[in-house]
Amino acid sequence: MKINKVMEGPRDGEIRCQACFTRFRPKLGAGRAKCPECGVEWRLSWPYPKTAKVRGPVWESYPVPSDEKTFLGIWNN
Ligand SMILES: [Zn+2]
Repeated sequence: MKINKVMEGPRDGEIRCQACFTRFRPKLGAGRAKCPECGVEWRLSWPYPKTAKVRGPVWESYPVPSDEKTFLGIWNN
């Protein structure tokens, strides 16, 4: 019998980039997050308050937003 892993603990709130498989922690509740490794931006959903899920890439900024200010602006929103 397989026991499902409980999605809590130190890794809670982390997502894995689906382009380069880097784990990183998005801002809590953020609608999107950019991978610090490859720069691809992901749309997020939050099935639980502290658990993020990657819904898919942000197409308008795929593969890499050229302007770093755009990235900062997202975090400041
Ligand atoms: Zn990545």
